[in-house]
Amino acid sequence: MHGWAPDIIGAIGEPTTDAEGYLHASFTDSLTSRAAGRQGLGRIYTRSEGRDDQTTWQTRNAQHDAVLKWGRRTSGCSSGSPRSNEKDASMPDFPAFPSTTGGEFVAPSKDLVLPVGAHVDQLFRRTMTEPFVLQRLSERSYWVEVGVFATLFYVGEESVLLMDPIEHCYDGVVAAIESVTAKPLSTVVYTHFHADHIGDAPRYVEQARQDGLTLRIVASDMTARKLDAVGSVLPRPTETVAWPKGGFAFEDLGVQMHGFEWAAHTDDHSAWQLATERIVHCPDLMGPDQPPFWRFTANERFLFAERNLNEVQEMEWDFLSAGHANIGSRADVQFELGYYRDIRNAVIQAFEANPFSGFIDPSQGAHTAWFPAQLAAVAKDAVDLMRPKYGQYYGFEAGAPSNAELAAFTVFAFR
Ligand SMILES: [Zn+2]
Repeated sequence: MHGWAPDIIGAIGEPTTDAEGYLHASFTDSLTSRAAGRQGLGRIYTRSEGRDDQTTWQTRNAQHDAVLKWGRRTSGCSSGSPRSNEKDASMPDFPAFPSTTGGEFVAPSKDLVLPVGAHVDQLFRRTMTEPFVLQRLSERSYWVEVGVFATLFYVGEESVLLMDPIEHCYDGVVAAIESVTAKPLSTVVYTHFHADHIGDAPRYVEQARQDGLTLRIVASDMTARKLDAVGSVLPRPTETVAWPKGGFAFEDLGVQMHGFEWAAHTDDHSAWQLATERIVHCPDLMGPDQPPFWRFTANERFLFAERNLNEVQEMEWDFLSAGHANIGSRADVQFELGYYRDIRNAVIQAFEANPFSGFIDPSQGAHTAWFPAQLAAVAKDAVDLMRPKYGQYYGFEAGAPSNAELAAFTVFAFR
């Protein structure tokens, strides 16, 4: 964990900030994103009452310190199993949630391969109190989570392959790799263009340069195009695989890429299969052992989410490495598909209880508020319908409203 990225420090890491600095820190540099940011700025600076207090230099320093502290907690030990369960007195009690699949919980281990269907125990507490959580998935493959970001690495004969250089996690990921091998990291994969999954790439490029290597960066054609289209500042792939089906070799390991032609998450979303390892790595497909995160793991749309899950179901694998949350199995995919079915049915029921006619109000002087009000009412009722079955699970209350609203729009939008 390294706090703010240098360009972010440049933009807001000084006692006074300006609108351009805010825009750069809060939005990507694409024109549409900055336009959205300007609209937000307009809202912030034109509103004269009820505004949040201006952030102070002290506030921003405190946020920066919290980010650093979060990444440095070392009360636990992430080097093997079983783990110490000593409690950090400064940390809150972490509630226990039931498994979403009935799978057993086990302490993470860098030595013992995870039983298929099991989940790492006390995962949230561990990620908040340990520099990394490391779990072996095969002879050569390891899953690692730092903070709330997870990735996968494979130890070859000569060097290490990392699937996704997750952002602000460099120290934890490197420490995890160094706890099992002294071999250098030679290759990274970008699974899709989202910065939270590939934002540490410059750190790995620099380390490889210091090691006398040129970092090999593999991505799909589509991700390469997407990085160009958004004007990303991140390093470009050094080689690409054909979209939507392609592959590459890392030493003796064959890696197959399955791109989602109709993707729910991003245009370039893809699943990468480490064939001999029986692992699929597909960040943001879903969050194993949890109900869906905000907007179904930050999907651009709900439409096609079920189709994408079914495509991954058809691949050969035992372990799903999903970029966040726990390690998944086919039972996790079944839980997710069940949630999709239930929320769609809940939304349909909620639309019947909240017909559009009930929101038409000419006295408002414009029609603009009617549909958002209907969607909000439908989402609220749908969450109420979901709660008896799903309310017991990790993070349900925070994720469900946005899930319901996105699902409601999809139900509304096509027949
Ligand atoms: Zn993503």
